[in-house]
Amino acid sequence: MKKRRTTHPVTVGNRFIGGTKPISVQSMCTTDTLDVEASVAQCIRLNEAGADMIRLTTQGLKEVEAFSEIKLRLRAQGIEIPLIADVHFSPQVAHAVAAIANKVRINPGNFAKNELEGRDSFMKLLEICRQHHTALRIGVNHGSLGENALLRYGDTPQGMSYLAIQWLKMCKEVNFDQVVVSMKSSNTRVMVAAYRQLVTDMEREGMAYPLHLGVTEAGNGREGRMKGAVAIATLLYQGIGDTIRLSLTEPPENEITFGKALLDFITSHPLRSFPLPPISKPHTLHHISSPTLESLTIAASCNYGPLLLDGVINDISFSAHVNEVPLSSSETADFTADLLQATRCRFSKPEYIACPGCGRTLFDLEKTLIEVKAHTSHLKGLSIAVMGCIVNGPGEMADAHYGYVGAGPGKVTLYRGKKAILHSIPQEEAIAALLQLIENPLGVPSS
Ligand code: SF4
Repeated sequence: MKKRRTTHPVTVGNRFIGGTKPISVQSMCTTDTLDVEASVAQCIRLNEAGADMIRLTTQGLKEVEAFSEIKLRLRAQGIEIPLIADVHFSPQVAHAVAAIANKVRINPGNFAKNELEGRDSFMKLLEICRQHHTALRIGVNHGSLGENALLRYGDTPQGMSYLAIQWLKMCKEVNFDQVVVSMKSSNTRVMVAAYRQLVTDMEREGMAYPLHLGVTEAGNGREGRMKGAVAIATLLYQGIGDTIRLSLTEPPENEITFGKALLDFITSHPLRSFPLPPISKPHTLHHISSPTLESLTIAASCNYGPLLLDGVINDISFSAHVNEVPLSSSETADFTADLLQATRCRFSKPEYIACPGCGRTLFDLEKTLIEVKAHTSHLKGLSIAVMGCIVNGPGEMADAHYGYVGAGPGKVTLYRGKKAILHSIPQEEAIAALLQLIENPLGVPSS
């Protein structure tokens, strides 16, 4: 493990990100922020699971009020966990919630059309954050880069880093250093390349802002865990990263459990245990053994993920044991296939891009993803997105061939590529319509 990159600490309520502080684990509520009872209950569960910080979606001024109430109720119960507001598209909301939250996340790709147009609003936000000791995250997403970055670099790691640097320059100009940066993508190779590019660009600019790591829209189950783990492990072993979020389309407590186990593995195995000689013999059988399937997933992701992701090797064979019982040949093949797909070495299953859900989610995302997977698991080579809302979903579903996107309560819009084909159809009909759409690649199914 390389020495951790030097960053300055950012204070988030009673915690820190960066500096010499331990790497923290965070998650996001999937509840409707306006449902204060449910949000408080989920925050309590996340706190008990060991989350260091919790983010809540804050899409409008009503949600800002609810955010304030959630914070008050948690503090009244003696729960001091820092709360982060997630803001898209609205500088006005960011200004309002910056006086209440411990940290505000903005997406520079949708805070304004570009950094010139957003400058005044952003400077005002920095001033409010400074007055209220509120930290800020500049959260770049591969799927929403804004016009200047896209024009100059396209939706590339260079474009992602360029966008972050433009907004960081404004922070530097007014000496506001309570800033964390993220560069998320659902594509593990793009994500790793974007963080590396940003580190290079920040060093050139004399910036030492800490980094929040995460693979977005990773999906669920082992596939989702492996996507997050291989990319985060690759960067952490390189000394890059100060806080992590494992994005899963599952109850958010699972993100904390897995994230903490991943960090424990990395800190207790600072030198990856893979034997170097087999790098020159990819056909070597690697023996891995772990007490549980989840710890086996972590060990394989950390030991071999970085080599596969960086192209040092492009294939691997395992002999795997869980609790001293060997995995069957089909279980081993499935496990290996997931690792090779997470590192984008070989695609032997459909690629699922699914958001974790948040207060904007308009249907039962977890159940829907499981159903979509059950009906489409034979469609090797296709990428299928399942996204909770129409606001961010279409932009964030990357290059998916097909998209299932929440369009309103009980309504779904189906996409082929970037084009909406069936608008606001009833949710009960949506999976059948999606299958029809896939089976008729040139036509539009009747709905
Ligand atoms: S795409 Fe999913 S996670 Fe992102 S804002 Fe919409 S519902 Fe929330």
